[in-house]
Formats: sequence, structure tokens, C-alpha cells
Amino acid sequence: MARAANEVSSQLSIESNDIFERNGYCLIKSRAQYIQNPAQVVRIAINMPTGSFVYDQPASRVIFGAGSLNRVAEEVNKLGATRAIVLSTPEQLGQASDVAQRLGALAAGVYPEAVMHVPIETARAAREEARRLQADCCVAVGGGSTIGLGKAIALESSLPILAIPTTYAGSEMTPIYGLTEAGVKKTGRDRRVLPKTVIYDPELTLTLPAGISGTSAMNAIAHCVEALYAYDGNPIISLMAAEGIRALSRSAPLVVNEPGNLAARADALYGAWLAGTALGAAAMGVHHKLCHTLGGTFNLPHAEVHTVILPHATAFNRDAAPEAMRAIAEALGARDAAAGIYDLAVRLHAPVSLRELGMPQTGIEQAARLATQAPYRNPREVEYDGIVKLLSNAWHGVRPA
Ligand code: NAD
Repeated sequence: MARAANEVSSQLSIESNDIFERNGYCLIKSRAQYIQNPAQVVRIAINMPTGSFVYDQPASRVIFGAGSLNRVAEEVNKLGATRAIVLSTPEQLGQASDVAQRLGALAAGVYPEAVMHVPIETARAAREEARRLQADCCVAVGGGSTIGLGKAIALESSLPILAIPTTYAGSEMTPIYGLTEAGVKKTGRDRRVLPKTVIYDPELTLTLPAGISGTSAMNAIAHCVEALYAYDGNPIISLMAAEGIRALSRSAPLVVNEPGNLAARADALYGAWLAGTALGAAAMGVHHKLCHTLGGTFNLPHAEVHTVILPHATAFNRDAAPEAMRAIAEALGARDAAAGIYDLAVRLHAPVSLRELGMPQTGIEQAARLATQAPYRNPREVEYDGIVKLLSNAWHGVRPA
């Protein structure tokens, strides 16, 4: 076995201390493929399943591809439903009406009242409307706000959700819901809110403006990054997360520069699917905690905050999660994970500073206090001074060194 390790080391120019042996295999850190060496098959692995883990991923039925919206009626039928309430934001009423038309008699009504962060009053009104219409399923056409409204209905009624995502936020793949009451957003996990069926039709994303497309893709990449260093991650989710970063980072620049590029739109939606799955399966860390704190306290826009914070949260965890950093950098095709993420945001013409988003500089210390009061579990300890520095770098928009 030592001979095999030496051969692999010299053939692939890999440091020999990056190679180790287990169960008759010669293993190389931070890769995800099999290779052949003259002596035997050598497995090259990422995020090695050397410890124990729980893989608990409730599956949704996924219909993917341009034109798949044509199958919406068939899919509502498959759920055994006959009276769908079709949800959207006011801005996406046109898309919701089109879906209702395709559903014909299966549509009980359209409710275009979704708004960001699901205020409890909106949730209550939507639940009431679902009852009034005697709906037996929710069809949510839109981004995280609309799917979030479907989840608020399902949480109370257990109605099945058919989600038709039109952004890259990934909510359609998670059992996570959020409700905002008296200005405070509370989130939770409940399997009842996980959509039963998801239709990914890239044609519906062609109208997503370039600016929102770029930050939405960065929001999805953030889910992948945190899944790669989550304390409860596992090798399967790591593969999905790395592939999500790969798909989103290659497609997003194309989407932003050519919003009508259907192939790039499909690739980005594929990345969003992987990212949502990763978010649903693994715990969030310092990045998501900071985004929730900043969004709630300073009313900053959701996807833009993710875009600005992600390079700095990644740099914050650099030394504490080296394996994840290697996987992220490799997926981005960059030398350094944090700098690679920052450079991608610049290529997407996305905001890179909290200053641009309108956050007052005097808010940094308040945000750091709030974010360190009840931090999410994170590879590196989330302490006040480190978070002040992170936020200060993010406020100025400096490229992580
Ligand atoms: P969004 O749903 O608020 O949409 C942003 C705007 O873009 C809206 O005006 C919407 O109508 C419009 N839009 C969406 N798709 C469009 C399209 N194809 N064409 C034209 N306009 C379109 O934005 P989002 O970023 O998808 O969702 C953000 C919300 O989702 C936040 O509240 C966030 O907390 C939540 N979220 C939840 C989860 C979860 O797992 N529960 C995951 C991610 C995000």
C-alpha cells in the first residue's frame, strides 16, 4: 500500500502527506473522483465519511426543464388535488394567472399577495383565503417570498405545496419556514412545509432582472458554502454543495450578461436546486446568522446582504474549515475561496459593500452584539471582536486578502 501511495504521489504530483490509506484504498484528501493507477483502483475522496453522520433528506418530486410548466395540471392531479390556490407576489400576477389558466378547473383561485419575509398578517389572510376557496393544494409561483407564503398555509393546514420557483433562493427544497411578527422574523423546520412537487422551468426565470439574478445566485452559493462546513454536514450533501457552487458560478455571469440565455438559466436553476437541498439538509453558520441579523435590524435587501457578507464570512472561517475552503475554491476555479467569491460578485456587477446597501457605519457594533448573543454553531468561535472586523470589512467592501 505504501508503494501505491508513492506511485500516486509521483504520478499526480500530490504531496505524499496528503495521501493516506484506509480499508485497502489509497485515499487522497479533497478530491471527489476515482482514478486508476497501475497497481489498483485508487479512490480519491472529498469530505471522507470517516466519522458517523445522519443523512435525513426527505425527497420532493422534481420536474425539470424548459417547457415543464406544461405539466402543471398533470402534477396537481398526481397530488390527488382538485382545488389549487395559486400564489404569487403582486408583480408576478401575470405568471400566476397563466398557471391558473393551464390548471383550468383545477384552479380554485389566484392569490397574488405574497411579500418578503411573510408578515403574520399576510399569512393569516392567505390561510383564510385558502379556507374560503376550500383549497386542497397550494401552487406557489415565484421566489422565496411566494413559496414562503405557501409554507405558512401548509404549516397550519398540511396542504401539499407544488412549487414553481422563479429565482435561485432555494426555498422550494427546504422544510424551513419563516414568519415575521412585530418586526421580528422567526424561522423553524417542519416537514409539512416541504413542497411535495417542484417544477423547475427555466423559461419562467427569463424575466428575472439581471441584477436580481446575480444576487439570487450568490444567495444560493451561500447555502452551498455553509453546508460544506456545517457541523452536521455529510459527504452526500458536500458533493451536492460543491456541484451547486460549480453550476452557479459558471452560469451566473452568463445569466447576468445575457438574461435571455435559456441554457445558462437552466444551469443556474440546477445549481439553485442543489443549493436549496444543501440548505435544507445542513445547519446554517455565521453567514446566515449575520444576514438574518442585518436584514432584520437594518431592513436591508435579502439577496444583496448575502452577496456582500459571503466573502467575509468565508474568510472568517478560512482557518477553521480548510477542507471546505479547498472544495469551495476548487468549485469556483479560484485559488482562495473567499477572494474567489468576492471576485464572482464583482463579475456579476453585484454590490460588494454594506455601505452601498445603505447600512449606517454606526450600526456595525450593534449588529455584532446581536449576532454574537445567540450565534449559530460555526466552525470558528463567533466572538465580538472578530465579527466587528468581519462587518467592518464588509461595510467597506474590501476584497478578502
Ligand atoms: P422574492 O421571492 O422576494 O422575489 C424578489 C422580487 O422578484 C419579487 O418582486 C418577485 O415578484 C420578483 N420575481 C421573482 N421571480 C421573478 C421572475 N422570474 N421574473 C420577474 N420577477 C420575478 O425573492 P427571493 O430572494 O427568491 O426570496 C427571498 C425570501 O425568501 C426571503 O424572505 C428569504 O428569507 C426567503 N427564503 C427562504 C428560504 C427557506 O428555505 N425558507 C430559502 C431562501 C430564501
